[in-house]
Amino acid sequence: MESLEQTFAEKFELYGCYQCGKCTGGCPVSLKSKLNIRRLMIEGILGKNLERMTEREELWDCTTCKTCTIRCPRGLKPMDLIIGMRGTLVEEGHIPKTIIEAMENAYKHGNPWGTPKNKRTEWTKSLPEDLKVKDFSQGDRAELLYFVGCTASSDPRIQEIAKSLVFILNRAEIDFGILGNEETCCGNEIRRMGETGLFEELMDANIQRFETYKIEHIVTACPHGFNALKNEYPQGKFNILHTTQ
Ligand code: SF4
Ligand code: SF4
Repeated sequence: MESLEQTFAEKFELYGCYQCGKCTGGCPVSLKSKLNIRRLMIEGILGKNLERMTEREELWDCTTCKTCTIRCPRGLKPMDLIIGMRGTLVEEGHIPKTIIEAMENAYKHGNPWGTPKNKRTEWTKSLPEDLKVKDFSQGDRAELLYFVGCTASSDPRIQEIAKSLVFILNRAEIDFGILGNEETCCGNEIRRMGETGLFEELMDANIQRFETYKIEHIVTACPHGFNALKNEYPQGKFNILHTTQ
C-alpha cells in the first residue's frame, strides 16, 4: 500500500524534478523567507514533505505568484505543491490567524471582506442616473455578464474601477448585466490558502448561477476573478474575458 508521502509525490509529479533550482532562483520571497521551493520538491521525493508540517510557517509566505511553475524547465507545478501542503495543514485545522477571518467570511458571506450578501450591490447606488446596470438576479437578461468580484464590490477605493467599467460599457452600448446580490466569491484566494473544499463550493455556486441565467460571455476587471474563472473553473464552458482584452 502506498504511503501518504508517495501519494503526495505522485499527485504533484515530484519525481520529474531534477533539482535545477530555476524555481527558487526566480522566487520573489526566497531571499526574505525560509521558503525554498526547490528544497520542498526534493523533500517531497524523499518522503519528508509531511514531516514537521506545523513548524513550516514559511509555507504561508508564498504569494502564489506562479513564477516557479512558469520557470520550471520540466513543466512541473511547484506552486501547486505548496497549495497542497497548505491544504493538508488546513484539513488538520492549522490555519494562520491572519487568514481564518477571510475564510470564515467567504463561507458565511460569500466574500472574504465580510460584506453582507444583501449589500453586495451597494456600490451601484452611487452611479449617475444615466448609467444603467442590468441585474440578472432581479429578472433582467443581457448578452454579457460583468463579474464584479468581491473587492470591487466591497472596497470603496476599488469600487471606482467597477463604476468606471459601467461607464465604459454604457458608452460602448454593450448589453451587460451583473449577478447582483447573487454573485459570490470566485474562490481564487481561497484555493490558494489550501481550502479546496470551500473553493469548490464557491465555484459550484457561481456556475449554477451562470447556467441558470444561460450566461455564455463573462467579463471581469478583477485579475483574481479572471484567473479563477478562466483557468480553474471547468474549461470551455464559458467565454471569459478580462476588460483589457
Ligand atoms: S525548476 Fe522544476 S525541475 Fe528545477 S528544481 Fe524547480 S521544480 Fe525541480
Ligand atoms: S508561487 Fe510561491 S514559491 Fe513559487 S515563485 Fe511565487 S512565491 Fe515563490
